[in-house]
Amino acid sequence: MSLHVSAALLEKYRTSAPRYTSYPTAIDWVPESFEPANYADELKAAANNTAPISVYVHVPFCEQMCLFCGCNVVITRSTDRVDRYLDRLECEFERVGDTGIGSRPVHQYHWGGGTPTHLTPDRMLRLQSAFDDVFTRTEDSESAIEVDPRVTTLEHLDALAQMGFGRISMGVQDFEEDVQVAINRVQSIEQTRMLVDGARARGMQSVNIDLMYGLPHQTLEGFQRTIDVVLDMRPERVALFHYAHVPWMKKHQTALDMGVAPSSEIKLEIFLRAMEAFTEAGYVYLGLDHFALPDDELARAAKAERLHRNFMGYTTHKGSEMVSLGVSAIGEVNGCFAQNFASDAEYLDAIDDGGLATKRGHRMSDDDRLRRDIIMGIMCNGVLDTQQIGADHGVDVNTMFADELKSLEPMVQDGLITMDANAVRLTELGQLFMRNVALPFDRYFAARSAGGRDGDGTFSKTL
Ligand code: SF4
Repeated sequence: MSLHVSAALLEKYRTSAPRYTSYPTAIDWVPESFEPANYADELKAAANNTAPISVYVHVPFCEQMCLFCGCNVVITRSTDRVDRYLDRLECEFERVGDTGIGSRPVHQYHWGGGTPTHLTPDRMLRLQSAFDDVFTRTEDSESAIEVDPRVTTLEHLDALAQMGFGRISMGVQDFEEDVQVAINRVQSIEQTRMLVDGARARGMQSVNIDLMYGLPHQTLEGFQRTIDVVLDMRPERVALFHYAHVPWMKKHQTALDMGVAPSSEIKLEIFLRAMEAFTEAGYVYLGLDHFALPDDELARAAKAERLHRNFMGYTTHKGSEMVSLGVSAIGEVNGCFAQNFASDAEYLDAIDDGGLATKRGHRMSDDDRLRRDIIMGIMCNGVLDTQQIGADHGVDVNTMFADELKSLEPMVQDGLITMDANAVRLTELGQLFMRNVALPFDRYFAARSAGGRDGDGTFSKTL
């Protein structure tokens, strides 16, 4: 796949936009629509259903701060602090279990962070047993974990294999030394390769590597060397993220010298060259910033236009409800989004007060559901199937969204989409602009733009 994006096209469509791991995005939730104290009732109501669910567990700890990091992390080496957190997480599992939701089988299970392998293998087993006391995984469930090669040992991998984790995802970002020093994340190729090989030796079926572009000192040539090393490891999945510089939200990012970061044009060139290298090496471009080998289930789902998206990223599970535990974790149950307290002190206090640590949420309206299906169709499968979505929701999409569809017409002329009465489809070039195509259907974004708040400062640039 070799694409050319002109400077004029880049200028025309470069804007800030959500990445749509959910719709509405978390900043647009309507507080009055959801009562945090009643979240247990939502879980109880959801317990009456029998469909499989997803479970997410957040482990916020890391040993040191990577300066580009946008996650909710707690930097510590204190085992007391970790144990205090695990005590509360066990409580949260018990209370979630009291609602009966554990009767539903789990087909997707994910530990994220932070760095879950900051926990010792013994502590990981302790957390796993809190999960096992409440939930049961289906035989074909996928269990995934985020690991940091700098702190993850072969003993961790042994424990993970014992706990049934078949997918590991590891951060790399860039293997060039000057970039690694600049971002305060020095990680050798050997450390990374040891984990990739170790995971495979233990029968894990999938390794994901995260890369990032837009960081200080990155160049086309240097990033190509990183790609070559990654291709040699041949992970089943690769995520290639655009660095989001938001120092007003993430103070530690002020320490990054963005004066030596690549320009917008070079960043785009880095992305396009990476895309070319991965697709030439046999990877399938899934959209946004993800690649997978053709046998990977995400690549197969993309081919069949069955890809979906949730807070864990791309998934094959459509509309799966998600129970999420731990500080700042976001779940989706019974038509509601719910998020736990984001600071660990508030989270610990809320659990000690006897509750579920839910801080805020949003109950989805019919309009939210309709627009979510439109936006997710574009973001996941590159298509807005107006007939199918119309039939699913009992509306005439072409009439109801006549203005939004009209606003897409310049994209037809620019070769980003094709459009007829049945569908809007992204072209190969249009895949790079999928967030631009989705934006007109986001009612909240439109309201914010009308109020002069277009999302700058909150969302990353589309390119
Ligand atoms: S290891 Fe990951 S979560 Fe922790 S600070 Fe670095 S990027 Fe953030």
